Amino acid sequence: MAFGASLDAVRAVEPRIAQAIADELDAQRGSLKLIASENYASPATLLAMGNWLSDKYAEGTVGRRFYAGCQQVDTVESIAAEHARELFGASHAYVQPHSGIDANLVAFWAVLSQRVESPALRRAQVRQVNDLSEQDWATLRRELGDQRMLGMALDAGGHLTHGFRPNISGKMFDQRSYGTDPATGLLDYDALRATAREFRPLILVGGYSAYPRRVNFAIMREIADEVGATLLVDMAHFAGLVAGKVLTGDFDPVQHAHIVTTTTHKTLRGPRGGMVLCQDELAEHVDRGCPMVLGGPLPHVMAAKAVALAEARTESFRDYAQRVVDNATALAEGLLRRGARLVTGGTDNHLVLVDVSAHGLTGRQAEAALLDSGIVTNRNSIPQDPNGAWYTSGVRVGTPALTTRGLGAAEMDQIAELMITVLTSTRPAADASGGASKAKYALDGAVAEKVRAQAADLLAGFPLYPGITLP
Ligand SMILES: *Cc1c(COP(=O)(O)O)cnc(C)c1O
Repeated sequence: MAFGASLDAVRAVEPRIAQAIADELDAQRGSLKLIASENYASPATLLAMGNWLSDKYAEGTVGRRFYAGCQQVDTVESIAAEHARELFGASHAYVQPHSGIDANLVAFWAVLSQRVESPALRRAQVRQVNDLSEQDWATLRRELGDQRMLGMALDAGGHLTHGFRPNISGKMFDQRSYGTDPATGLLDYDALRATAREFRPLILVGGYSAYPRRVNFAIMREIADEVGATLLVDMAHFAGLVAGKVLTGDFDPVQHAHIVTTTTHKTLRGPRGGMVLCQDELAEHVDRGCPMVLGGPLPHVMAAKAVALAEARTESFRDYAQRVVDNATALAEGLLRRGARLVTGGTDNHLVLVDVSAHGLTGRQAEAALLDSGIVTNRNSIPQDPNGAWYTSGVRVGTPALTTRGLGAAEMDQIAELMITVLTSTRPAADASGGASKAKYALDGAVAEKVRAQAADLLAGFPLYPGITLP
């Protein structure tokens, strides 16, 4: 449809970019995408993003802008926020964050500014930040710098932004982490409670990127209340399962947390972006996101968020969310039946964490061998990973994208077969000094080629963006 014609306009200016856009569609169509954090947004969502709304500056919030002429942006932002509130049952929604990390930064700032008794901070909010004296800044840094954050350990599936060193949150906060039970791989709520009692964090962070199970947020809220912490849940990965009412009751973070952050492009299937949901008492702090933390809002992306959120309110999205989980279960069962080792022994969300050390491989070797065979996954640490965060011992796989394409349980079983074929056919290779390499591997080219062909066959029955043809 019209996408092809639009691409001609790009081609006339910079043909290499038009080519890269077309090639990306080919690549996405041709590979078995099992990256748990990726999806395929609808053409309506993509179109809402590719237009002149992008040309507008709109710092501030609806009705309180630092720029003139924001009527349409106000409309777009209001509709996106309204869909978000109604979809998730939240009192307040802030739809400006440009990504999940940005949403977390907005939320951290909001909690600090709500909770920390700091005269310097109060002055910072009353005055323009530029007017703060050097001494105010020094006081502010001292008063804010001592705050504590408790988040899920990285090797248990937590995210870098939950207080870990490679992210600024690890420098802003004094951090400790909670993990999983070594015997079961499941989140250890008793250990978490004990750590929280001793550490007394300002912020207790729930949520994960690589934990294959549901989390009980009612228990987490109870722990937060007991130690006087603000419960912040980062549902970046599983927002679509909350939206689709697969995660309800104790497992629905919006009903339990003081503040919830998310991406909009993972299971939620919207444009690349972020969002913050919160209770009323945090709303005014969250709304300072731009310009306190964020650059100018992206009106075109907010428009796409509104479209995707409207889609997420339909019956067919609920059906999609249930199929995502059913497919992950089918994939896990298919892998287990063929001898794979899975962290926690299975899944009850959208992702599966395969412990590839059972096949004598590092995550890096397994990821590369699978990619050679047309299966796109990503390597991931497992609890107490002996291979560290770079090589790892795990491969994370998820079903949100392939479920959007229409694949079901029967196809998941076939995918499990293909994955096991690759994993059992791959051997670690020697490195330059003759020792076992954590990166090099040997996979028979004929096996890779056969699996690639089978993957392509499987996908041929499930066209991606069928209405779009490119020259
Ligand atoms: C993906 C993810 C993020 C980061 O999202 P970006 O949009 O890449 O910034 C943050 N938190 C969690 C838990 C995530 O899984």
